Amino acid sequence: MRFSIPRYWRERHSHYRLYAKKCPKCGRVNYPPSNICRYCGSTELEDYYLDSEKAKIISWTIIYPAPEGFEEQRPRIIALLETLETKTHIIAPLADILPEEVKEGLIVEPVLRRIKEDREAGLIHYAIAYRPVIGSIGTNKQ
Ligand SMILES: [Zn+2]
Repeated sequence: MRFSIPRYWRERHSHYRLYAKKCPKCGRVNYPPSNICRYCGSTELEDYYLDSEKAKIISWTIIYPAPEGFEEQRPRIIALLETLETKTHIIAPLADILPEEVKEGLIVEPVLRRIKEDREAGLIHYAIAYRPVIGSIGTNKQ
């Protein structure tokens, strides 16, 4: 799909933050965000940002080669994560980690990373990625 500035602007919250809805009634986080809690049916949901939490790696997959436009970050590691506080499952790319360093249970934290450059439109895209918490692996890079 062709990149569109109005669409990107409308969706900016989900690009730069992991926007979700938290249910004050049952305490669960609805992600992707929903106006009706999918756990208890409540409609009184509050904005919540999952990137306020650290997470642990549950499983992952390594993608070779990187898709077109993502060549800067090859290979690309996509992980299934569970946030530490609300135990919400999210899928996000990993950063600052080598494929052989990824392991189940590793604690990671969100960081805003440049993901691709659209030279034609003169735009640089950023998105949330997760990197190992400092000290969690021996060869951690900043
Ligand atoms: Zn609920």
